[in-house]
Amino acid sequence: MATISVVGTGYVGLVTGACFADLGHRVTCIDIDAAKVETLKRGGIPIYEPGLEELVKRNIRAGRLHFTTSYADGLADTSFVFVAVNTPPGPSGEADMTYARSAAHSIAEHLGTPATVVNKSTMPIGTGDWVAGILARYGSVAAAVVSNPEFLREGSAVTDFNHPDRIVLGADDREAAERVAELYSPLKAPILITDLRTAEMIKYASNAFLATKISFINEIASICEKMGADVEQVAHGMGLDARIGRAFLNAGAGYGGSCFPKDVQALAHMAALSGCHPQLLRAVMEINRDARRSVVLKLRAALGSLEEKTIGVLGLAFKPNTDDLREAAAIEIIHLLQGEGATIQAYDPEAMEKAKAILPGVRFCTDAYEAAEGVDALVLLTEWSEFKSLDLPQLRAAMKQPIFVDGRNVYDTAEMADEGFEYHGIGRGNGHRDGAAVALKHAVGTLVEAG
Ligand code: NAD
Repeated sequence: MATISVVGTGYVGLVTGACFADLGHRVTCIDIDAAKVETLKRGGIPIYEPGLEELVKRNIRAGRLHFTTSYADGLADTSFVFVAVNTPPGPSGEADMTYARSAAHSIAEHLGTPATVVNKSTMPIGTGDWVAGILARYGSVAAAVVSNPEFLREGSAVTDFNHPDRIVLGADDREAAERVAELYSPLKAPILITDLRTAEMIKYASNAFLATKISFINEIASICEKMGADVEQVAHGMGLDARIGRAFLNAGAGYGGSCFPKDVQALAHMAALSGCHPQLLRAVMEINRDARRSVVLKLRAALGSLEEKTIGVLGLAFKPNTDDLREAAAIEIIHLLQGEGATIQAYDPEAMEKAKAILPGVRFCTDAYEAAEGVDALVLLTEWSEFKSLDLPQLRAAMKQPIFVDGRNVYDTAEMADEGFEYHGIGRGNGHRDGAAVALKHAVGTLVEAG
């Protein structure tokens, strides 16, 4: 069993540390956030992630999982140092490497035994060489640098760690990659070993592709609205084609979270700086901005002016099963609505504590029905399971006006109409019938002419 250090104890670092400990390794997690480390030492969990609390507690009890703010303690006798610090977006869309730089310097300074440094954070292409340079400048005993991008999804992070589709390892020293591969061998997952830069690019390209699928279906959704087609059935029909697949073809208020927005931006930034013209990536970002704004436009179309209107918001987290609000569509949409004079009352099963700090002026409710009380319109922005089985008559009775904007297409158009709602989904072909008829006539006319 190996001795492993994990630098950065956020969503990725904590899951990585706890899961490696559960595989039987001795793991020490290092973080500069003293309050977080204190919470973790007591067996508390600073984030919401299904299954994580139990996993952390079990491995602390077994003496395999430790937490510290001290690099000297955390790196003592270690063989592998996983770097999982945050790489947030910088002012021009680049990855902000402040935290990674500081972590690399601290590792270089304190590493006392030969160890393999493993970059797990999503870092720009070339970072592996850059970290190796920092380690070398300190005369550090690091054996090698390996890139091991992380693909776990918040909300199912523990399961994803244990059942990955693939493990990507990039290194210019193949033996170093094989040492890291050995740590993952109990997971029996496909392992791909590449050079450093290729592994770094696989991560960016994967996230950019998934974001592209989302923006693609959102563009199709806008066209569906004008043409009277239903994007849900379109996505189903497309997804049955094995070459396409159904995943990530969910039309809605756009992607958010700590990864897709920043990684697409950072890739576009890197591409532009290297003389490329990343027009597809730019379109992906622009469509995502439009997807969020389309929710506000739907409310405006249904209500007229939003001044002094009360809007209920169901869901704040960027996706279900997490309390993560980073780049959540709800944050931008709420700001836009407040800017137009609306009053917001909101409910989220897990993200409200974090939301209170960043959403002044919002009234936070104890459940969906309280969020619907007396509202002019209700907007669903995160598809939590509990929002999929709401008591519709109770919800309808609570609202002042029955306007329901479904930013995640959770509900069925006909069912909502039967329940007395004025329902606005995304790309459901409901609400622009006149425009659709004209557009269709025009399209058919063009076809006839062409034929
Ligand atoms: P996070 O913000 O939740 O956690 C980062 C942690 O690093 C924080 O606890 C912070 O205090 C700590 N930290 C910062 N500087 C440090 C330093 N110098 N030394 C020690 N600790 C330090 O971030 P996250 O969501 O876990 O993401 C980490 C990286 O993994 C990012 O690059 C992200 O893009 C990538 N990633 C994230 C996900 C995800 O779903 N969150 C998935 C795949 C990849």
